[in-house]
Amino acid sequence: MPTMSSGEFDIIRRYFRDRQPQPAALRVAIGDDAAVLDWPAQQQLVVTMDTLNVDVHFPRFTAAADIAWKTLAVNASDLAAMGAVPRYFTLSLCLPAIDERWLAEFSTGLFAAAETCGMTLIGGDTTRGPLSLSVCAFGALPAGRAVTRAGARAGDLIYVTGTLGDAALGLRQALGDMPQGDGGDYLLQRLQRPTARLAIGAAAADVASAMIDVSDGLAADLGHILHASDVGASVRLADLPLSAPARATLPTDELQLLALTGGDDYELCMTVPPAQAAAWEQRARAAGWPLTAIGCIEAEAGLRLRRADGSLLLLQRAGYQHFSADTAGELKS
Ligand code: ADP
Ligand code: MG
Repeated sequence: MPTMSSGEFDIIRRYFRDRQPQPAALRVAIGDDAAVLDWPAQQQLVVTMDTLNVDVHFPRFTAAADIAWKTLAVNASDLAAMGAVPRYFTLSLCLPAIDERWLAEFSTGLFAAAETCGMTLIGGDTTRGPLSLSVCAFGALPAGRAVTRAGARAGDLIYVTGTLGDAALGLRQALGDMPQGDGGDYLLQRLQRPTARLAIGAAAADVASAMIDVSDGLAADLGHILHASDVGASVRLADLPLSAPARATLPTDELQLLALTGGDDYELCMTVPPAQAAAWEQRARAAGWPLTAIGCIEAEAGLRLRRADGSLLLLQRAGYQHFSADTAGELKS
């Protein structure tokens, strides 16, 4: 067996079991061979999984609580991007050794994120190897209401939540590639403690024709919508939402490039038919949600990035790809 000695059972009991109230629908909890759940009749189960590997998804020196938080948040973000509400998760924990202090911090960060996202840990696996965390997340959705990448139509408006490029700047600061400016803490937080846009994602299920979360840079992720929907788009560079701390750090044109290619922001990008656009903007304003219209879906294939003077920006590289030659050995941002 490639798993750890008897120590793993102690770890599960001390750091992962009985740390949260158990929902009534959870009939068999952590400790048996598998979890057993009731699922509401009119709802669909939405499932996603994301892995974070040391030296690929986070620098080796990242705090355990931040690693845990991010592992859960990125999964919740995928559920939000379907319009689903996160409910449960499982955790596969691969550790090089048992470090009690690291585990205590990790589980604190994990359950803080779980509470924020409304998720309950229902099982997992604990093994020895290079540090790696995998979460499988389970969400609920009224039947037939999933928002996929495939529904965008010419004329739909394109929106993004929050601001873009912050996490990529945060990574530069974490790696010491950039002096820590006034906004240093904010940018690092954006890298290490992303918050899934759960409320906006669930509400968007009412209006959005397509949706995705921005994890690899807007150009790559909007590109997935365009490809799946067989359409193209125009984006107004001047309208890309940039945070004040980011603006204080880099010139606008460099920031726009980071927003397009930087990744790790975990904002949502959705397309909304023009007939629903005014109501959607109104709803976001009333709820205080940060939402920005950045462009329009067009019939002609391709992503056109328009400067204010009408000229087009051409990108060298759309976003991070794990197996592309030019990212080998590089940290994902
Ligand atoms: P098995 O050998 O049957 O797979 P395990 O020893 O892997 O059993 O797990 C025992 C119980 O502990 C199971 O309910 C499993 O889901 C849970 N578990 C194992 N590792 C974790 C973890 N890191 N977090 C939460 N639950 C875990
Ligand atoms: Mg197991």
